[in-house]
Amino acid sequence: MVELAFDIFIIGAGSGGVRAARLAAAQGKRVGIAEEFRFGGTCVIRGCVPKKLMVNAADFRETFSDALGFGWNAESISFSWEKFVRSKNKEIERLENIYHRNLTLSGVSIFSSRAKLVSSNLIELSDGTVCRSKIVLIATGGKPFVPSFEGRQYAITSNDIFDLPELPKKMVVVGGGYIASEFAGIFTGMGVSVTQIYRGEKLLRGFDHEIRDHLTVSMRNRGTNILCESEVIKCEKDVAALVLTLSNGDTINTDCLLFATGRRPNSLNLGLEKIGVNLAPDGAVEVDHLQRSSISSIYAIGDVTNRLNLTPIAIRDAIAFVDTAVNNNPSSPDHELVPTAVFTRPEIGIVGLTEEEASMEYSVEVYKTRFNPLANVIAGKDEPTLMKMIVDKFTRKVLGCHLIGPNSAELIQLAAVAIKMGASKEDFDKTCAVHPTAAEELVTLN
Ligand code: FAD
Ligand code: NDP
Repeated sequence: MVELAFDIFIIGAGSGGVRAARLAAAQGKRVGIAEEFRFGGTCVIRGCVPKKLMVNAADFRETFSDALGFGWNAESISFSWEKFVRSKNKEIERLENIYHRNLTLSGVSIFSSRAKLVSSNLIELSDGTVCRSKIVLIATGGKPFVPSFEGRQYAITSNDIFDLPELPKKMVVVGGGYIASEFAGIFTGMGVSVTQIYRGEKLLRGFDHEIRDHLTVSMRNRGTNILCESEVIKCEKDVAALVLTLSNGDTINTDCLLFATGRRPNSLNLGLEKIGVNLAPDGAVEVDHLQRSSISSIYAIGDVTNRLNLTPIAIRDAIAFVDTAVNNNPSSPDHELVPTAVFTRPEIGIVGLTEEEASMEYSVEVYKTRFNPLANVIAGKDEPTLMKMIVDKFTRKVLGCHLIGPNSAELIQLAAVAIKMGASKEDFDKTCAVHPTAAEELVTLN
């Protein structure tokens, strides 16, 4: 059998894999990449990008309603899920083609196949092709996890949500993390009657307590029915609906049951255990500070390592991998002070330590403001924005910044630059405000 030879072979063409492939090929390496599903990976095909388009689609409802207060007449509005899905699919296809084309133009050999390792340097593709490579990069991402319960087969996950044949009238979303909270908000915005069921006391475990409280109140005010300290223990299919039994014995009828109860590293059936690559109990490929697995020629980046599961992190991991394995410049990806956003409505943007985390290590001062944004008043809405800054009392350094309100994702990106540079509270104060904005509150906090 013919063997194809590479310097670097990458399994998985998602955010991390594609970036690593292009950068390595640009350095003149012979690079191969295998993708079993669609080029672009989770982010482009069934994650960040289609999710954000859904957020945009859902936002129009509120925009139309706000417009009335500003003198517009928007009486007969309607939403076509089918039309939205067609437009969204067209855009995703366009992006997928760009990913594919960029790989080709970079000189990367592309295989639309599932890949697995048969030894530390040999990769077998599902079409029978065998590739030999000096270095192998595992960039296979993650996949949704659904716990066991009676009727689990009726639950869908984020993988299925983007192409529902029709918009359900009622939906139950299980989970209290990023995906559950974002989709509960999206479908509420689209006019679906949504119940979000979370086993814990407050949504978004690990986030600042006031942001969590604020989100819960705001989402409820917007119409999401949030049930905390509750679990789905059974799902039965009736003629017209799914009938859910909850841990407190209550039953709920729904058209659609979305489980967003976390993701697990995609490391099964890759041949990893057989060849001696160490996996953590959750399946994550264990890597050292240079992202090398227990076999030195096999590296892993992105969600499959289950460190920080975000697209920009997978990309940073890829850059550090290429520096280490190609450019002879050993590099660790920087996972410190990573800003992140949750595209709930209202939107959340955070960077750094929460008040709780900071108080365990530092003497802290907390600066915060709560205000109803200018446009809300005329629109007839009462949904305050909350901005919070956690400051080290002695060094004055800003340790964390937590925002919930319109455009928080955009705002936190820029606040994160200053905080990453080590800005003090007084550095923020010295910066002149931009008026009239919500952002100016960040430089006038007292
Ligand atoms: P992936 O992008 O998952 O790519 C892995 C690729 O490997 C996949 O294409 C898969 O098909 C392929 N593959 C797996 N096994 C094999 C095999 N054996 N052979 C060949 N190919 C294989 N992050 C953000 O930063 N912002 C967001 O707003 C955001 N929203 C999200 C919304 C949702 C619904 C989800 C699910 C995730 C979201 N994320 C978001 C997370 C983000 O998508 C991931 O962190 C990111 O895609 C990880 O990149 P990756 O390269 O590690 O893996
Ligand atoms: P998360 O880890 O954010 O949330 C999982 C949720 O499911 C938690 O509320 C968790 O509860 C709950 N849960 C876990 N196991 C069970 C169980 N057995 N029964 C009931 N509930 C359970 O994962 P997601 O799936 O929401 O998202 C995965 C990752 O993708 C995120 O962590 C993030 O890294 C990334 N992502 C990023 C986005 C962004 O940047 N905007 C958007 C979407 C995803 P508990 O808290 O009690 O453990």
